Amino acid sequence: MDYEAVIGLEVHAELQTQSKMFCGCAVVDSTQAEPNRYVCPVCTGMPGSLPVINRRAVEYGMMVGLALHCEIAPVNVFSRKSYFYPDLPKGYQISQYDLPLAINGWLTIEVGDVEKRVGIRRVHLEEDTGKLIHRDGVSLVDFNRSGVPLLEIVSEPDLHSLNEVRAYATRLRSILRYLGVNSGDMEKGVIRFEANVSVRPVGSTELFTRTEIKNLNSFRALLRATEYEIARQTALVAAGARIMQQTMGWDEVRGVTVPQRGKEYAEDYRYFPEPDLPPLEISREWVAEVAAGLPELPDAKRDRFVRDYGLSRYDAGILVAERAVADYYEQAVRVGATGAGRMISPKTIANWITGELFRLMRETDGDISAVKVSPAQLVDLIRLVEAGTINANTAKEVLEEMFKTGRPADAIVAERGLAQISAADVLAQVVAQVLADNPQEVQAYLNGKQTVARWLMGQVMRATQGTANPMLAQRLLDEQLAQLAGKRDV
Ligand SMILES: [Zn+2]
Repeated sequence: MDYEAVIGLEVHAELQTQSKMFCGCAVVDSTQAEPNRYVCPVCTGMPGSLPVINRRAVEYGMMVGLALHCEIAPVNVFSRKSYFYPDLPKGYQISQYDLPLAINGWLTIEVGDVEKRVGIRRVHLEEDTGKLIHRDGVSLVDFNRSGVPLLEIVSEPDLHSLNEVRAYATRLRSILRYLGVNSGDMEKGVIRFEANVSVRPVGSTELFTRTEIKNLNSFRALLRATEYEIARQTALVAAGARIMQQTMGWDEVRGVTVPQRGKEYAEDYRYFPEPDLPPLEISREWVAEVAAGLPELPDAKRDRFVRDYGLSRYDAGILVAERAVADYYEQAVRVGATGAGRMISPKTIANWITGELFRLMRETDGDISAVKVSPAQLVDLIRLVEAGTINANTAKEVLEEMFKTGRPADAIVAERGLAQISAADVLAQVVAQVLADNPQEVQAYLNGKQTVARWLMGQVMRATQGTANPMLAQRLLDEQLAQLAGKRDV
């Protein structure tokens, strides 16, 4: 029998507001800041301290909810979720339970050519916990992160493959970055995943017993853990065994999931409404205001790039994945359309960015913000190609140098003498010289060995150190060879 995986994701994303969820302490990079520096009685759970809701965090949450096509609840209630752990000094976390911020949305993902909607069950606000550091046999706790606004985004169990999981997580991260509510810096732990996994016979629509894998802090961990868990459950079910509902951890080193605790009921948390916070009412006017301020999101931008710039859906999709890349591209398009010289087509610019520029970025493991070549400089380089000053291969070398140094293309071309020989008379002399230097090969060609022509073309490029305009060189070579053939026939 064949089995299919049924996967739902819970994504925890820090909302990178100025201050924390319920107090005025600054939200800082907890991997860099001096421990326990950004804390107060509220976020360290001192008795008698009172929380106050951060309006900006609620707005950030609304932005995410709206971007995911959710309904924003008119009344929000915060609840206490009780549990004991040293990173949670209050003994409970302020979260949302039965009345979350947003519900019933969806996110479009694309795998191969197939587009599908993944349901979003709920989006709710809560506070992050502190961080435990285990060192030299002792455990330390840093409360800088305690009380940082956290958004939990819960999908429906609509994902059925690792590719879909990857597409969903990547797309969601992209949207959070577009909205400017989260840096997307996975290494800093600002986005964390939990995966709910079950398997069922293909064709079944039933939901089988699932396990929940907690604390997955990278795409790699998410995908590896999910893959492992699918394989583990499939083997068990195929052997006629039952799956136990369990919370699992991920052992990165051994590459296996490990049970953490037994069956877990929501009641264990003893949720009850937070007595120190009144219900939060969200007026429809406020929702409309936030909706009006949303930036253009990846899907809409992709469709616009296809429509306005004549790009393929695929290329447009690559360019819009990162907002900064899309902005870079559009700046280049503007310069290409208006600057001095001929108009450079948006498609040509897209090819240079997704081809050579991305290749250089991959090689240096850098993102677009670190690229020293400005959009205008890239367009200047493309103009040199289109004007015939340099050929495409030379341009790639020049771009490498620009990428390293940030210097303009024309300076590099002038300094290295890379301008291609386009003057027909100069190039004609080079071709004549090559033919004169290689009488045997010319004879072979004239005797019918056609392939020699390509070798002779190579000699022409060599003689000019690759700077000959290849189309012109080919034409001149053909002409001179035809002339020799004509002479012989007479
Ligand atoms: Zn505080």
